[in-house]
Amino acid sequence: MPDLVAPHGGALKPLMLAGEPLAGARARAETLPTIRVSSREKGDLIMLGIGGFTPLDGFMTRADWQGVCDDFRTADGLFWPIPITLSVDVTAADSIGIGDDIALAGEDGDVLAVMKVSEKYSIDKAHECLSVFRTTDLDHPGVKMVMQQGDVNLAGAVQVLSDGGFKAKYGALFMTPLETRNEFERLGWSRVAAFQTRNPMHRSHEYLAKIAIEVCDGVLVHSLLGNVKAGDIPAEVRTRAIAALIEKYFRAGTVVQAGYPLDMRYAGPREALLHALFRQNYGCSHLIVGRDHAGVGKYYGPFDAHRIFDEIPPGSLETQPLKIDIAFWCYACGGMASGRTCPHSEEDQLQVSGTQLRKWLSEGSAVPPEFSRPEVLEILREHYEHPYS
Ligand SMILES: [Zn+2]
Repeated sequence: MPDLVAPHGGALKPLMLAGEPLAGARARAETLPTIRVSSREKGDLIMLGIGGFTPLDGFMTRADWQGVCDDFRTADGLFWPIPITLSVDVTAADSIGIGDDIALAGEDGDVLAVMKVSEKYSIDKAHECLSVFRTTDLDHPGVKMVMQQGDVNLAGAVQVLSDGGFKAKYGALFMTPLETRNEFERLGWSRVAAFQTRNPMHRSHEYLAKIAIEVCDGVLVHSLLGNVKAGDIPAEVRTRAIAALIEKYFRAGTVVQAGYPLDMRYAGPREALLHALFRQNYGCSHLIVGRDHAGVGKYYGPFDAHRIFDEIPPGSLETQPLKIDIAFWCYACGGMASGRTCPHSEEDQLQVSGTQLRKWLSEGSAVPPEFSRPEVLEILREHYEHPYS
């Protein structure tokens, strides 16, 4: 049997402690100065813990930050598309010395990690935003996050002490890269496509996943479990709707459904590269990249996230994009089609915006069955009728 794709940089490197060392580190963390991290930083920490950000050993140095912004490389020459950094305000930074150990806690106060601080540095935030997001517009949610973060970055290796509660909340859905790799091997897969989603899956998403199944051994439907924009559908609802779709409309043994702990950054093309990089760690040889992947508003062209895979040096990533245009039901074709296959005009193509769907669901109006499966709509309707239950 051919092997799964190798992890980025060679071997999986989870930074989560277990057993005796974990108990010792937890006790020690109680005695250390504690820094509260943001939701984005928490997601990054948990990814470091489970090996999703292999082979990083912690938060990036200034040289790493500069290299990643300018050349997609850390100081060691490792391909990396988005800075993974930790920031604090000046007062907190002044209270911490180089070489100090500090505890990192989530917004709820739970200790997540211990870090040995190797460097304190400031950055040109606008430079990061222009490099990563291609804009400094504060209406861009990723830009806003960077511009509002603390003015000093702390670099250093981390030991992760917690999964951030994701396992308790999501159970079997929260799989580590080692767990997805074991599952793919059990299924006898080597060519695996990841389908990245922060939404429920409608017919168009089903179509993309099935295109991938036609040419690969199987698909990992991989839902973002961290934070999305206000108004988006919460992960526990989305993942239930996806499970209902897979159960009814996919052959057994062709799909693995799982989730990962990151927040969205909305960095479009650069985030598509990060999505491919960490999917390589999860054992996926391919990433489905649709139109305006990881985009927001009108900041990126519809195929910027396709093109960027051709702009990076060959060999930067083993995981390759499956580039697919926007998909929809076409009444003239009488079936699912895409921008590449359908010759008809927009009047024949059923394209529904998120805003339109929300309006239909919250008003109790009918949704065309060509847009979404009834089993999916039923779960979404329940959410819109009782959004706070
Ligand atoms: Zn058509």
